[in-house]
Amino acid sequence: MTPASSALPDKLGVLEKTWGYSSFRGQQEQIIQTVIDGGDALVLMPTGGGKSLCYQVPALVRDGTGVVISPLIALMQDQVDALAAVGVRAAFLNSTQSPADRSAVEAAFLAGELDLLYLAPERLRAAAGLLDRGRIALFAIDEAHCVSQWGHDFRPEYLGLSMIHERWPSVPRIALTATATAATRREIAQRLDLGDAREFVSSFDRPNIQYRIETKAQPLQQLLSLIRTEHSGDAGIVYCLSRASVEKTAEFLVENGVPALPYHAGMDSTLRAANQSRFLREDGLVMVATIAFGMGIDKPDVRFVAHLDLPKSVEGYYQETGRAGRDGLPSTAWLAYGLQDVVQQRRMIDQSEGDLAHRRNLSAHLDAMLALCETVTCRRVQLLKYFGQSSQECGNCDTCLAPPETWDGTVAAQKLLSTVVRLDRERGQKFGAGHIIDILLGKTTDRITRGRHDELTTYGIGRDLSEQEWRAVVRQLLARGLLAVQGEYGILVITPASAGVLGGGEQVLLRREAPRPSKSARRAVA
Ligand code: ADP
Ligand code: ZN
Repeated sequence: MTPASSALPDKLGVLEKTWGYSSFRGQQEQIIQTVIDGGDALVLMPTGGGKSLCYQVPALVRDGTGVVISPLIALMQDQVDALAAVGVRAAFLNSTQSPADRSAVEAAFLAGELDLLYLAPERLRAAAGLLDRGRIALFAIDEAHCVSQWGHDFRPEYLGLSMIHERWPSVPRIALTATATAATRREIAQRLDLGDAREFVSSFDRPNIQYRIETKAQPLQQLLSLIRTEHSGDAGIVYCLSRASVEKTAEFLVENGVPALPYHAGMDSTLRAANQSRFLREDGLVMVATIAFGMGIDKPDVRFVAHLDLPKSVEGYYQETGRAGRDGLPSTAWLAYGLQDVVQQRRMIDQSEGDLAHRRNLSAHLDAMLALCETVTCRRVQLLKYFGQSSQECGNCDTCLAPPETWDGTVAAQKLLSTVVRLDRERGQKFGAGHIIDILLGKTTDRITRGRHDELTTYGIGRDLSEQEWRAVVRQLLARGLLAVQGEYGILVITPASAGVLGGGEQVLLRREAPRPSKSARRAVA
C-alpha cells in the first residue's frame, strides 16, 4: 500500500515544525523531494551545507524508519540525542552497545516506533534479518566517499553496502559526501550501484574561508602569532600529525595563555570524550587534535583551522579546513608547511604497507597537495579545480591578497640537480637536502671535509642564495616532481623529469619566499 502523496506530511511543514527553519537551503528541496518520491540520490555538498536534513526530512515524511549507515560510531549517541531534543525518534545499533540496549532498539524498530535508525556499516549484514521484518523508509549512506578505494578515507566495510540495492530494491537510497572528485564520484555510483541516481552537486566553494599557506620556520610561534593577532578568544582547531605533537602543541598554547585541549586516539577515551564535549559546548576553546577529530562535528563558530603538518591529500585538507566557519562568518584556514613535511610524507609512503598501486595512489594525493601549497595563483581556484569546478580568482586567499613574486629559478635548479647527479655518478653517494645545500653554500662541515666534497665543481656555487632560499628551491622542485626523496634518511635523487632542466631546455619559475617576520625565526629550519 503506497499512500497518496497528499496523505504524506508536507516536507516544509516538517522542516518548520521539527527544526524551526522557515526554508530549505540550496538544493535541499529538490533532493528531499527526489527521495520522498522514491528515487535514488547522490548528494555532494560541502561540510556545513546541510546534508543531514536531506535524509532526515524524507525519513519523517515517508512511512517507516530511515536507516542511516554511518562510520561515525563515536558520534551516534550525540546525533541521536540532538534528534531527540527536537522530538525525532532516533536510535542506533553499533558494537559499543550492550545486548540489552540492542534488543530494546530492535524492538522499537519492529514496533514502528523509530523515525531514524543509525547503523554502523559492519552491522548491516547482521541486521538484515531485522530490517526485513520492519518497514524501511529509505537508506541513507553517509560519508559515502568511504566506499572509494581511490579516495583518502577508504573503509572496507563500505564495500558490503552494495547489498542494500540487491536486498531492498524498492527502498530509495541517498548517498551523501562532502568530498568527492569526479573519480571518487564515479566510484561511489558504481560501487553502490547508484547508476540511476540523480546527482546533486553543490558548489564546493566556501567563500567565507580565507585560505593561507605559509612556510614553516618556528611553527608554534607562527601559530601563536596567528591566534594572538587574529583569533584571540576564538574557537579553533589545530591539526597535528602525531599524538606527541598534539600533546606538545596543546601544552605550549596553554602555557602561553590560549585555552587549548588535546584530542587523539591514544588518549583515555573518557578524557577524550570530555574534551570533545567541552569544545562543543564552551566558547573560545582551541582543540589540538590528530585528524581522528572532527568528522561529523557540528560546531558552527569554529573561526580558524590550523594545520601544523601537511595534510596527506587535498580532500583531507578541504574536509578539515571545512570545519571552519560553518555559520558563514569570516574564518581562516591556515597551514604551515616545510621541506621536512615533504620528506617525512614521502618516507611514510615508501614504508607504507600495500602494493605499488596503493603507494602510487598515496603519492598522487601528496603531489596534488604540494601543488596547492606551491601554487602562484589563487588557492581557491586551485582547490575548486581539484573538485572539477571552475571559478574566478577569489580575492580572499593569501596569493590573491599578496601575489607571490616569482623568479627564474632555472640556474638554481640546475646547480642543485647537478650536485645531486655528480655525487651519485662520480662518488656513488646520495645525501639529504641539508648536506646538498651545505655544498652549494660552500660550507666547511665535517662531512664535507671527510668526503672531500669541497673538490666538487659545484662546491660553493650557490652562495647567491641563502639557506632558506635553497630549502624553498628544494621544496618546489620536489613539489613539481623535478626531484625526489628516497628512503629512511630522505636522500635526494633526480627523476626522469629532471633531465629537461639539466639539459637546459626547460625554464623553472619559482615562488619567492616571503620575508621572515623575525631574525630568530631564521635559525630554525623549515
Ligand atoms: P553537513 O552534514 O552538510 O556538514 P549539517 O547537516 O550538519 O551539514 O548542517 C549544518 C548546519 O546547517 C546545521 O546546524 C543545520 O541545522 C543547519 N541547516 C541545515 N539546513 C538548514 C536550513 N534549511 N535552514 C537553516 N539551517 C539549516
Ligand atoms: Zn584567491
